[in-house]
Amino acid sequence: MKTDVALKWAEALESDRFKQGRGALNRDGKVCCLGVLCELAIQDGVEVSTRVSSYDGSTQYGNQTLVPPDSVRVWAGLPLYALAKEEDKGCLLLQTPEGKEEAFNLNDLYEWSFGQIASAVRETFGLPPAPRNCPIHPGEIEPCYKCNVAN
Ligand SMILES: [Zn+2]
Repeated sequence: MKTDVALKWAEALESDRFKQGRGALNRDGKVCCLGVLCELAIQDGVEVSTRVSSYDGSTQYGNQTLVPPDSVRVWAGLPLYALAKEEDKGCLLLQTPEGKEEAFNLNDLYEWSFGQIASAVRETFGLPPAPRNCPIHPGEIEPCYKCNVAN
């Protein structure tokens, strides 16, 4: 996976821009971690057809409802889905304390929060830890310049 995409993904998961859902890329506006990746690709100009099912409210991206379509995978620097399966690389494996696990399992099966998944994304792709907010000055991240001024 491309490092810049991984960082964008982690930051989106850490933000409050997306409501987390489980069991589908996007159902009724609630997305899984891979649905967030699809939305980021669209925002970045990738052409992904979307269609909302009147049956269960789930959104199809390309022809997929559970995993990102190949257009998103190419944008993210992931192997095409068919190739990934063939080479047994999985859909999108993330590093966890217990070993590598599919991102969709962390979201759906183990019910990890977006924040937890973001940490795994940072770990997997060698990204720096998420910036922490200053406990004293809301909206400032550490190292906080306001605290430095106060000192
Ligand atoms: Zn501060």
